[in-house]
Amino acid sequence: MNSYSWIANSLETIHRADWYRSTRTIQGIPGATVLLEGREVINFASNDYLGLAGDQRLIQAAVQATQAFGTGSTGSRLLSGHRELHRELERAIASLKQTEDALVFSSGYLANLGTITALVGKRDLILSDQYNHSSLKNGAILSGANVLEYTHNHIANLSHQLQQYRHQYRRCLILTDSVFSMDGDVCPLPELLALATQYNCMLLVDEAHATGVLGENGAGCVEQFGCTGSELVQIGTLSKAIASLGGYVAGSTNLIEYLRNRAPTWIYTTGLSPADTAAALTAIQIIQQEPQRRQRLWENIAYLRKVMQEKLPTLELLPSASPILCWQLPSPREALRVGNHLQFQGIFAPAIRPPTVPTSRIRVSLMATHETVHLDRLVSVLTEI
Ligand SMILES: *Cc1c(COP(=O)(O)O)cnc(C)c1O
Repeated sequence: MNSYSWIANSLETIHRADWYRSTRTIQGIPGATVLLEGREVINFASNDYLGLAGDQRLIQAAVQATQAFGTGSTGSRLLSGHRELHRELERAIASLKQTEDALVFSSGYLANLGTITALVGKRDLILSDQYNHSSLKNGAILSGANVLEYTHNHIANLSHQLQQYRHQYRRCLILTDSVFSMDGDVCPLPELLALATQYNCMLLVDEAHATGVLGENGAGCVEQFGCTGSELVQIGTLSKAIASLGGYVAGSTNLIEYLRNRAPTWIYTTGLSPADTAAALTAIQIIQQEPQRRQRLWENIAYLRKVMQEKLPTLELLPSASPILCWQLPSPREALRVGNHLQFQGIFAPAIRPPTVPTSRIRVSLMATHETVHLDRLVSVLTEI
């Protein structure tokens, strides 16, 4: 026994519960099909909803920015790390979101940690959807505010807690994913906004899986619900439909100026690399100029739903209004078994298990670049199972 032996015991427990995770290697350029551990599979595991991660225009933008500005930004944005390219990207995000300004972080995770800790502290209250992403949950803990969870997407439960507790605190921040990442359903944004106004709360909405996917112009759930222009804290990532790396906050000039002065995960970390920044900027231009990509994605979603309903009428999908489609399995072991069987049949659709989600499931995410044959193949393999 030494002071580290508990780690081996913990790993043993993780294995026994079928919760053990390890990486799987993807080779080559990502797309609707990928090489997974040397074998070509149809890719239903990617967040690259618009199929831009392998797009030559993004690749060229990253290469050119590297040649022009080097590989690293060499410092934090407030010291030596700031480039005109960062500001261009922030202006492009603000223009997509129709907000006064935006601020780019090194990841979506860091955008949430930094924003939440800057907005609330010990004297404040956070109300957080129980199914929120890890970055919202950990941001809430790190802020030192009093954190209460409300039942998933349950307006009456949130309202009840606000009525009961809001008056005991200085500020209040409501946290929600817009598209819930492991379920695919969408938050009731207009009702959340109404409650935020009624109880004098700030509302932070994480559009990680919605940006580029939802809304007429791909601005996300805020646009889809007609809430553009409402005072809100909008968070997102550059790593999903935007196909690069990084995160952002979009909102009022005051909010962004305040975060530049108060968000520790922005102030004390290195600025985004020129390659990531340029690729993200190009992706946002494509999102605005090529709505047909988003249309294709939604056609694929409608097609898969229709064929699944015809061929697999007993398979019950979780409620979803996004490219994320899931169905539950009785245990982590069963989810792994189905996931492995799919992979063996050339379908990459991973099992998602606790503690990421309360109940094990298979999660399929669709891309604009999936072809009908890919979707048909998924359904035919599922039918055999
Ligand atoms: C993926 C995700 C993040 C994290 O974004 P990264 O840029 O990958 O760090 C944050 N919030 C939600 C809801 C996500 O799905």
